[in-house]
Amino acid sequence: MDSDAKNPSCLLYGPLDARFEDRPVPVLSDPHDVILRIAYTGVCGSDVHFWLDGGIRTYVSEARPLTMGHEASGTIHAVGSAVSSLVPGDKVAIEPGYPCSRCERCKSGRYHLCPEMKFAADPPKVHGTLSKYFLLPASFCYKLPESISLSEAALMEPLAVAVHAIRLADIKPGSRVIVFGAATVGLFCAAVAREFGASTVVSVDILEHKLRFAQKFVGSSVGRTAMPDSSLTPEENAKRLVEEHQLGEGADIAIDASGAEASVQTAIFALRMGGTFVQVGMGKRKIEFPISELCEHEITARGSFRYGAGDFDLGIRLVGQGKIILSGIITKVFPFESATEAWETAKRGEGTKTLIEGPRN
Ligand SMILES: [Zn+2]
Ligand SMILES: [Zn+2]
Repeated sequence: MDSDAKNPSCLLYGPLDARFEDRPVPVLSDPHDVILRIAYTGVCGSDVHFWLDGGIRTYVSEARPLTMGHEASGTIHAVGSAVSSLVPGDKVAIEPGYPCSRCERCKSGRYHLCPEMKFAADPPKVHGTLSKYFLLPASFCYKLPESISLSEAALMEPLAVAVHAIRLADIKPGSRVIVFGAATVGLFCAAVAREFGASTVVSVDILEHKLRFAQKFVGSSVGRTAMPDSSLTPEENAKRLVEEHQLGEGADIAIDASGAEASVQTAIFALRMGGTFVQVGMGKRKIEFPISELCEHEITARGSFRYGAGDFDLGIRLVGQGKIILSGIITKVFPFESATEAWETAKRGEGTKTLIEGPRN
């Protein structure tokens, strides 16, 4: 790489304080690493929290600014001497966190729960993908099939989140599923549930336009939509959901991709005896939870965190084979220099997925 190569990056110094700076170009010190040139970075809810508050639980500061971004795609720029799976010019989606590979969690096969995980744009130390160049292990890059564009590839991260949640939900052929929230992850959960064989997938949201899109995205073979009535209790809304969508004694599986307290409660009340609940959305840190129903109905409740072994692979295969069609999900693309506008757009809840281009030069 030429010695005057620069690495323009978008760093967050605190709430509403983003600065564009040149950071050092990453250097290939581990032979298994690659450097990629970032093509697109998607904006997600957590980016908006970072933009507004400077972090979530852990925070950036004037002394410790951090490059933002974690949902990214790019082109391989350079590969370490031990890398045989990728060559410069390959187009990839990236899994933006890599574990230590040595601890008990890693050895047990659940590497995404590794306490030493180095996840992009996670304070205080790990820089994100909103830069020209980005370094990571080759095994966390997923080569794209011809049918997936670099902009669509930035959606593989939220898709992997959905694949992970649906795997934990243990959907079987014919399962009746409710997904709360019809933003990107909720939409993907609904579509992946369909691919896992669900016979009914009801998407629930409080915004009419999100439900209209969900209906189209999930398709009329299994997809249904419902808007909760804010004047009713979660118990009443659950009863209505089950009746209107003929879910019998209740849904087999309920997934919350909204993080809203009322959704979590409605989800539990809408399940049949012995049903399964999966929490994938992040909202308020503590909520009131229908614990008696959990017990009396012997409901299985599971938390779903990011993604793990095989989740990116499966997501990419589902899209690559045309089983999940991404058209309409990307609603706006901002140039690198307008990253803060992209966060503002996401904050206002406009469209579905906003992308930020990598620096052009
Ligand atoms: Zn995200
Ligand atoms: Zn580990």
